[in-house]
Amino acid sequence: MPDDVVLPLRELLLMDEDIRRQLRDRRAFLWRTGLAAHPQRCPADGAALLWALTEDPKDPKWLPLNATPTRAGAVAIYRDGGARIARVNPPADVPGGRWDTHFATCADPGRWRRPRH
Ligand SMILES: [Zn+2]
Repeated sequence: MPDDVVLPLRELLLMDEDIRRQLRDRRAFLWRTGLAAHPQRCPADGAALLWALTEDPKDPKWLPLNATPTRAGAVAIYRDGGARIARVNPPADVPGGRWDTHFATCADPGRWRRPRH
């Protein structure tokens, strides 16, 4: 296929929908298969955790949040494919609560930087 082929708009829209659906399916799969492996409380300090996936479509990561929302929290959350997705530093007009990442307050923040399996 030559480089200069211009797809009709309808095809571009369908392609976007396809990418969007793939991302939702990937998030749903990660959530379904990974949530149980993530502790409900921090092993270091016992804080209640709320897990979310980072927004990065190519490399979603598990992000521990403090379960209790705070006014000054840097993270908003939304659902996609059943997964909880973390939106870091959202604009002020994004509705809903705000949460802090747990490593901001953890008694042993280094544990969250180490590679985990
Ligand atoms: Zn902790």
